[in-house]
Amino acid sequence: MKRVNGHEVIEQFEAWAPKRYAEDWDPVGLHIGELGRPVDRVLVSLDVDERVVDEAIERGAQLIIAHHPLFFRPLKRIWTDTPEGRIIAKCIEHRISVYAAHTNLDVAPGGVNDLLADRLQLVDRKPLQSSYGEALYKLVVFAPVEAAETVREALAKAGAGTIGAYEACSYEMTGTGRFTPTEEANPHIGSRGTPEAVEEVRIEVLVPELKKARVLKALLRAHPYEEPAFDVILLDQQTDEQGLGRIGRLEEPMTLRQFAQRTKEQLDVPAVRIVGSPEEVVQRVAVLGGSGSKYVHAAKRAGADVYVTGDMDFHTAQACEAMGLAVVDPGHHAEKVMIEGVAARMNEDARTNGYDVTFLESTTHTETFTFI
Ligand SMILES: [Zn+2]
Repeated sequence: MKRVNGHEVIEQFEAWAPKRYAEDWDPVGLHIGELGRPVDRVLVSLDVDERVVDEAIERGAQLIIAHHPLFFRPLKRIWTDTPEGRIIAKCIEHRISVYAAHTNLDVAPGGVNDLLADRLQLVDRKPLQSSYGEALYKLVVFAPVEAAETVREALAKAGAGTIGAYEACSYEMTGTGRFTPTEEANPHIGSRGTPEAVEEVRIEVLVPELKKARVLKALLRAHPYEEPAFDVILLDQQTDEQGLGRIGRLEEPMTLRQFAQRTKEQLDVPAVRIVGSPEEVVQRVAVLGGSGSKYVHAAKRAGADVYVTGDMDFHTAQACEAMGLAVVDPGHHAEKVMIEGVAARMNEDARTNGYDVTFLESTTHTETFTFI
């Protein structure tokens, strides 16, 4: 098992929930501390308050990965007799680093919203609100016929040519490549100063932005020519489309009352508030962890019968009632499902990577509200 530092832990985490998935306003990433130090225990929590920091100290965690960012606004001063100041002082004193994964973890496949949708047993689901797309390039490369297969395989291995559920997609046609090696050249085919005509294959593949560097490196390594000819063309399409929330359906229709009951049990909350008639039948469900009032119209447009989200305010609830969209509000704290989900996923990935690090589920109760 490999001893790791914070960078390696975060690299593993961001392979799943990359920062680029976060909304622009969202201050995700490292909030306090440094990542260069060794880490063998990570505490996963929904929030960071002083009790969570105490738990990290007690359980010997060097890093806290939390869903809610500790700082939303730049601080003007750090007074250690304020709750926020005490958190900062304690983390620094005990060399505990704090990292936040907020909307990037909401968006990530398998992240907060999928964890919620899993609990609600939603099938056929997709993002409720598109929020991220990756630039897509067309790579066109010309290779001598005998090298075409090697080049094609190298491109596919580096991640080029994936279209939906199909991989190693490419297009080819054959033509004639012409060149004259100069006196400085060291040609694979032909000789210096003599015009050459070679039967070449034109290979076209799609390359997503994030794989571009790796694919070009693989191309240069696999191509036999000293100076391979290739074009990288930015396309109008995007790929890796991700988004906030999820829309899906229940395997069987049920009444709003039954669905609300399922939500309450599955999300392990003491109560839910509902909008709509308890006896109406629902099947298409939108879910968005945290405060989702902003996305009620997206839920309606997506054809949801019922929308599960927290922090529903009175006037938005009225608007939902008027447009015939039922709501189940399990509270913001329902996002606590991320604790178990993130720890399980990260422990599994650590095992795969051979990393000597354990992700602990925070047991600190950070729900602010008490239901009586
Ligand atoms: Zn939240």
